[in-house]
Amino acid sequence: MKYVSTRGGMSPQPFCDILLEGLAPDGGLAVPETIPRVSAATLEQWRSLTYAELATEILSLFIDDISRDELATLTNAAYSREAFPGEPMVPLKPLSNEISLLGLSEGPTLAFKDMAMQLLGQVFEYELERRGTTLNILGATSGDTGSAAEYAMRGKRGVTVFMLSPQGRMSAFQRAQMYSLQDENIHNIAIEGVFDDCQDIVKALSGDLEFKTAWRLGAVNSINWARIAAQVVYYFWGWLRATPAGGSEVSFCVPSGNFGNILAGHIAREMGLPVRRLVLATNENNVLEEFFRTGVYRPRSAAQTHATSSPSMDISKASNFERFVFDLVGRDPAKLSSLWKQLETQGYFDLADRKAEFEERYGFVSGTSSHADRLATIKRVHQESGVLIDPHTADGVKVAAQYLEEGVPMLVLETALPVKFAETIREAVGVEPPVPEHLAGLADLPQRVVKMACDAEQVRQYIRDHAPLPESEAP
Ligand SMILES: *Cc1c(COP(=O)(O)O)cnc(C)c1O
Repeated sequence: MKYVSTRGGMSPQPFCDILLEGLAPDGGLAVPETIPRVSAATLEQWRSLTYAELATEILSLFIDDISRDELATLTNAAYSREAFPGEPMVPLKPLSNEISLLGLSEGPTLAFKDMAMQLLGQVFEYELERRGTTLNILGATSGDTGSAAEYAMRGKRGVTVFMLSPQGRMSAFQRAQMYSLQDENIHNIAIEGVFDDCQDIVKALSGDLEFKTAWRLGAVNSINWARIAAQVVYYFWGWLRATPAGGSEVSFCVPSGNFGNILAGHIAREMGLPVRRLVLATNENNVLEEFFRTGVYRPRSAAQTHATSSPSMDISKASNFERFVFDLVGRDPAKLSSLWKQLETQGYFDLADRKAEFEERYGFVSGTSSHADRLATIKRVHQESGVLIDPHTADGVKVAAQYLEEGVPMLVLETALPVKFAETIREAVGVEPPVPEHLAGLADLPQRVVKMACDAEQVRQYIRDHAPLPESEAP
């Protein structure tokens, strides 16, 4: 299995060569040359597998430069009882006769990003060791991504993490989660500024090619293909748990931001998983809902992006969307490139003439949810089923209700646990969300964080002072 760029300017590369890279050299995103197919008979054979075993089967379709045995070792380490203490792992939690949650948030940071990051931590360590080199991950976070990355990379050989976060802008729970890590290879840097300031510093330092190369800077952002591949696994898992032997169709509803989570659902469907609909849910930042409703994709500016009570879905443009559009235009890199050129010059593109295919060919439908919808949904679900859901999952449950069909189970992806967003839960139902047992003492742990002015040069110096380099590559 080789990978090419959506924009056509990259010679085919094996998985491990795209693993540690961000964008393809031509500015596009890496995609598999062909999408592997899974037969109905194979699907049936997968019913008895554990999560780690299923991950090995599916990932080996996308990765042929790590042996199957080694891949099994990596998935076992990633999807261990230690990281995912719930029993069973990735459970289905019924809310009603029609709707169940797919429990993706039982990992170390209580959000679905752990599902992919835990694997990434294992694969990064493996590949860096094989190459005899190291990587310094520089990132910016407003909460979920940074903590998932830190918990995945903590203690991993060859990896050091420098994570910028906006001082005083994360919830107390999120701060405690990140800053309480005492691992030597994890550096939390609290910047005097907002998330965009942190992001700008990352761009400035990663854009300095000389510095980036000398200090082996890398990223674990949402366009990383390994994260998408890891996410494909839980669509299969959810389908296998929700259907009887012989199978039938299932719909998935996905609270969406950067289009990474639901893109994995699209890949699973293209692989042959019997998925009826992929329901895309957005909050007030509805750039994706607008596309699936009208065919027009019009990214917004930071100033046009609302700060909402489902903050991990507050996006202005959807970084993974390019991979879906690549399929939509028949995997034609020239067509794809001209659309993205038009985005640059005109700020939008219009695929209204393909609109019929969105649902008929690809199963996509969409809807939006507001702050009032989230509160009402959290309250209603709590009253009717006794289950507390987080605000992002609530966006999903709200939109899923618009697309229920007789005889088709609807699985809503649970993207975080309510304790991460306690303020909104209190507003909705007036109760304190439960803290999982193993995190009970989190707020009292000592915190390890460096405060810094909003200044790229100070961050640059901090990296110079704290990043290990392989002897042979010391500048
Ligand atoms: C990241 C995140 C999302 C959005 O997922 P995408 O892959 O960016 O579409 C939704 N909910 C939560 C809680 C998240 O952390």
